[in-house]
Amino acid sequence: CFYAVEGVDGSGKSGIVTCILAHLTNQGIPAIATREPGGTPQGERIRALLLSGADDAWDQQSELLMMTAARVEHVRRVILPSLAQGISVVSDRYVGSTIAYQGAGRGMTDAYIRHLHKEAVGDVWPDLVVVLDLDPAIGLARSRQRLSAGAIDEGRFETLDVDFHRRIRQSYLDQARRDPSRHVVVDARGTPEEVRARAIDAIDAWRAG
Ligand code: C5P
Repeated sequence: CFYAVEGVDGSGKSGIVTCILAHLTNQGIPAIATREPGGTPQGERIRALLLSGADDAWDQQSELLMMTAARVEHVRRVILPSLAQGISVVSDRYVGSTIAYQGAGRGMTDAYIRHLHKEAVGDVWPDLVVVLDLDPAIGLARSRQRLSAGAIDEGRFETLDVDFHRRIRQSYLDQARRDPSRHVVVDARGTPEEVRARAIDAIDAWRAG
């Protein structure tokens, strides 16, 4: 199975990816964790280009194409080969992030992003997208806390306003509403343990159904 974990900055995606991976492994299901932008040496180089500069370092069109280029490498080198070997993939972000950030956030159209995705990687969509739903004000506060503690040293959330992140959150909810059989929306408020428990329950319920 191909799982993607999506959510606003500070919603706890990477912890949930680790937890899903452990849950699958404990059940004897071979699985790997990966991320976007990144997931391959080529994709990580693109990630560094995208995240090292100021907010306006790239035109939104360039940003979309770079995100898509990183995804091409990721899909062809990691995601498809893993799935072909029966290995489940758990990705921290995927095309849902592009629809949310480059689309709802930066104004590229949904139709264009979906068309580009299809041309670039084919019809490769996650079997299940776990959306960690959180008020971005809470997410940004969590991110700032981690930043000042030195736990993270990259990211653009400092300079973008909360309205931008509200559009991201709304886009994820819209994506889930548009394609409910491939999405579960998990309340990301509360402690990491609480969110982990909700996410695992949601995944188990989806797999049982
Ligand atoms: O979640 P992660 O730490 O990987 O994201 C790093 C930053 O990249 C986030 O702050 C987010 O603003 C940005 N991003 C983006 N567009 C994407 C994916 C991530 O702007 N498609």
